[in-house]
Amino acid sequence: MKRRSFVKKTTAGVVGAGIVAGCGSDSGDAGSGGGSSNPRVTWRLASSFSRSLDTIYGAAEVLAERVSAMTGGRFTIRCYPGGELVPALEVLGATQSRTVHMGHTASYYYVGKNPALAFDTGVPFGLTARQQNAWFYHGGGLELMRSVFADFNILNFPGGNTGTQMGGWFRRPVETAADLRGLKMRIPAVGGQVMARLGVNVQLISGGEIYSALERGAIDATEWVGPYDDEKLGLNKIANHYYYPGWWEPSANLSFYVNIDAWNELPENYREILASATAEANVKMLAAYDAKNPAALQRLIDGGTDVRPFSAEILAAAKRETDAYLDENAASDAKYAEILNAYRAFGDASRRWFATAERAYTEYTRP
Ligand code: CA
Repeated sequence: MKRRSFVKKTTAGVVGAGIVAGCGSDSGDAGSGGGSSNPRVTWRLASSFSRSLDTIYGAAEVLAERVSAMTGGRFTIRCYPGGELVPALEVLGATQSRTVHMGHTASYYYVGKNPALAFDTGVPFGLTARQQNAWFYHGGGLELMRSVFADFNILNFPGGNTGTQMGGWFRRPVETAADLRGLKMRIPAVGGQVMARLGVNVQLISGGEIYSALERGAIDATEWVGPYDDEKLGLNKIANHYYYPGWWEPSANLSFYVNIDAWNELPENYREILASATAEANVKMLAAYDAKNPAALQRLIDGGTDVRPFSAEILAAAKRETDAYLDENAASDAKYAEILNAYRAFGDASRRWFATAERAYTEYTRP
């Protein structure tokens, strides 16, 4: 209880500080510790990602660079790629135990610890990047997710987004729901759960092994991220049909995790700087993908890749199974149900708005 009430107080401090400071006032006491000072502080950040996923891994480097620059080099954060300091998929546990002070990861890796963590990253047919940020920063989403992360002694911040992902690479076209049955596909997380309900033979394969698995026929299809990252893996050389959209990842939010005890020990000015730097890294990662993906998609098209949408039949079947899957989880987990209801309500309202001016403008101006 004590921890929960502290996090609430801290959350209010972080969210409120920007507004209050903008009016030229003091941001007030955000909790224990406090006061402004400039001690030398060195933190370790464990990322789940390899350097080769440069846009995602780069968000942690942006954070570290900005924190250092804003503190005159006195608060430094050393970033370690996945597997270097702790195993790539154990960043949550490492932050919780303070093996590292903070982490950068995707929360849906840890749904085994709490299924509701999926909403921190995104779920099939869920929110786009802009909608996810709106939900986090202004729709109560961050507060809801922080109520889950408090159980892990972690304060979480949005930390970048891939934008809407592609649906991946298929060696043969898939047009009907029947075409999916028995298909061997690499697809992780909740998307994999839904694909399994559609009869797909779901394979869990790490990024570094996708190319060889697809090449030797161990899998028939794979998803990864989007044109920029997919092109780097060379997937266009061994599969020709590139589908969209990746309905299982309409956006994928990455998160920065901060150990709450380490956070409490920071002087207040460092906490404000760290919070601001996460927001800057969040914006810049999405912008980097939005800048890199268009040229990569054009190169793939020019190289002969067949880029095509999933059929209405496949999308409808996937949507139906997604809704059933989410409802089943909610039926046995009150916290999950609370977050799902809030996430759905926010999404429904948001989609009505985005389907108005944004869609009309995009459709009119597209080449
Ligand atoms: Ca993906």
